[in-house]
Amino acid sequence: MDQELSWREQKIAAAWFFNGEGCTGLYSSRTGTPRRWTRVPRIMISQKDPRVLEQFRTFVGGLGHIYHRPARHGHNVISDYTLGNHEKVQAVIAMLWNWLSEQKREQASRVLTDLKAYQRSHRNRSKYRTHCPRGHPYNETNTKLRTDKQGVTRRHCLACERFHSLKTWPGGRKLLTASALLEAV
Ligand SMILES: [Zn+2]
Repeated sequence: MDQELSWREQKIAAAWFFNGEGCTGLYSSRTGTPRRWTRVPRIMISQKDPRVLEQFRTFVGGLGHIYHRPARHGHNVISDYTLGNHEKVQAVIAMLWNWLSEQKREQASRVLTDLKAYQRSHRNRSKYRTHCPRGHPYNETNTKLRTDKQGVTRRHCLACERFHSLKTWPGGRKLLTASALLEAV
């Protein structure tokens, strides 16, 4: 591959290389705070010679990382190109789309469709909880909806709020022992 290629020629070269050697997949990964399992789309290309991966990375605007697997018994040194960020995976697929093979287009579409379905079924899971973290029911009398500065509306447990306000009121501490016992579980 030549360094003097135009933007378009770079994308064509990258797409042809990807058609032969690359793949798009959906993987399980632990991310975020707190860390939890989620699904991430990923572009992967493995090669013995990392130089061609460096070239690919340059041609897709420097996106992605290259890792080198150490040589082990009976295995050659292998290098892996990976791109694991959702927006960046979409960006690279979009960049190369015109020149991707039918098979690679189908694969990428499937991954992004599956991801959407996964996200839809896992989004706002807390919305479906019927009880607050301390176990009080989210029913009409015990729930207050509040919208924060970011415009996100959340349910608040009134039993918990009563508990927290009593804690700060001097006379409340005595009541608290009794009410906490009554409201617990
Ligand atoms: Zn509560």
